[in-house]
Amino acid sequence: MPVSAPVDRMHDFMLAWARVTPDAPAVVEEGADGEPAVLTYRQLEQRVHDYVSVLDGLGLDYGDRVILDSDTSASAIAMFLACSTLSLAFVPVSPETPLRRLLTIMKTTRPGLYLQAADGQRAGLPEGVGTGRFGPEGLVVERPPQPRVRHRREPVGTDTAYIIFTSGTTGRPKGVVMSHRGVVSFYRGMLQHAIVGNHDRVATTSPLQFDFSLLDIGLALGSGAAVVPVPRDTLRWPRRFVRFLRDMEVTQVDGVPSIWRSALRHEADQLAALEKLRGVLFCGEDFPLPELRQLQQLLPQARLINCYGATESMACSFTDVPNPLPDDLEKLSIGFAHPGAEMTLVDESGQVITEPGVQGEIHLRTPALFTGYWDDPEATRRVQVPDPLNPWSGQLVLRTGDLAYQGEGGEMYFCGRIDSQVQIRGNRVEISEVERKVLEYPGITAAAVLVVQRPDREPVLAAFVAVAPGGTAPKGTELSAFCAQTLPAYMAPKELHVIEEWPVTAHGKTDRAALAAGV
Ligand code: ADP
Repeated sequence: MPVSAPVDRMHDFMLAWARVTPDAPAVVEEGADGEPAVLTYRQLEQRVHDYVSVLDGLGLDYGDRVILDSDTSASAIAMFLACSTLSLAFVPVSPETPLRRLLTIMKTTRPGLYLQAADGQRAGLPEGVGTGRFGPEGLVVERPPQPRVRHRREPVGTDTAYIIFTSGTTGRPKGVVMSHRGVVSFYRGMLQHAIVGNHDRVATTSPLQFDFSLLDIGLALGSGAAVVPVPRDTLRWPRRFVRFLRDMEVTQVDGVPSIWRSALRHEADQLAALEKLRGVLFCGEDFPLPELRQLQQLLPQARLINCYGATESMACSFTDVPNPLPDDLEKLSIGFAHPGAEMTLVDESGQVITEPGVQGEIHLRTPALFTGYWDDPEATRRVQVPDPLNPWSGQLVLRTGDLAYQGEGGEMYFCGRIDSQVQIRGNRVEISEVERKVLEYPGITAAAVLVVQRPDREPVLAAFVAVAPGGTAPKGTELSAFCAQTLPAYMAPKELHVIEEWPVTAHGKTDRAALAAGV
């Protein structure tokens, strides 16, 4: 397949440092002996070529889907870069993805090929799809894909790079289709923040099926740094996690806020001893301020970055957390969109908001706008809307469903999702505002507030909290009175549940459905 056009695609971006520092580490994994096992940029590029030479013989067309069932690893990175080289759209899933969900994804995306890591255990796949396994030894095709007609000759920047299925915290799971042009422009904007340099080692903790992992990989490889995939099991045990960061000489850790929870509780001293760690980037949900303060106290040398955004634009902003966090700070800023993109607030009547303090919905103008939801033009139209400032231009912006207001300098403050606004006795309640208040209660380290609806009863607000080790939980009435000091009475939670094991989704975000199921 000729790959000649001078277009900018994911692999061009991620392998650019192979020209500059071919012998620098690109991926660092834990070897069988527990020591770091390094794959250099040159070796990574070689592995990509090896995979390409096998894939290219399978007769797939540009745009055909390839399911990639794997944890993040050097081989998985090489495999998606091989897909990128041949303009095959990869669909990452995790070995932990239940078979039924995988089969639904396969039914919708109709892939030409299903690939799993060499040590993958997955069975029960449909007959009609080609299958193969890949690892350091190469790509072995077990069942070739059915013959396809090739319609395409030239890869173009609008070709699909990947399709990511969201976890559905913001509705039912949707397949977010992202183009090469989109993702590369996002990466370029992100690199303007100079988050890492070419001597860094960037630990990535999100499963490959979550685009946060692709953000980490783009950040590391785009900066000439090394990616360090943190094995799933390691992440579950705080002592192993912290030891892994030390042994792999990690300098930057990326992940959702919950990856720190257990380590903060049980391994604070070991965390504080991670002298090499100079950066933490978190994304996906609010970092509870008490936990963030503790992390900063333990790692005062680290630059903490609040990354905000949604899969539909990979992410949107990167904002430095003030160091030290002021005592009276109530809310973190999500700042401004990355260079090359811009957030605009729009009120319910469609008017653009410019004054500080007024809440509206974030509309994002960005070249990293996703192509559309897979096979769902209606859902796509609901979020790709005409530019509110120039609706005549035909330009589309992302309607995020996220609420925010601006500070005096135009920086944004996230206030929760539009669909998380609930009605209690006819009053509109912002859940995230209640959660922030609950977190101010001394000793509470994490909080989620939900509306609990019981048969034949008025809906009530219930607070679910985690308490610092050794701390005592407040009584429900005490917490309620505390909240009612500054919030209207209808916003004060009427129930309190103290949670020992904080439930999280596959992506590591607070699992609200699991909390609700427990009452
Ligand atoms: P899903 O959770 O369904 O897989 P996403 O990962 O795209 O989907 O979730 C994006 C949403 O997560 C954003 O629209 C926003 O509501 C929330 N979010 C992302 N980053 C942050 C952040 N730094 N602070 C607060 N909320 C965030």
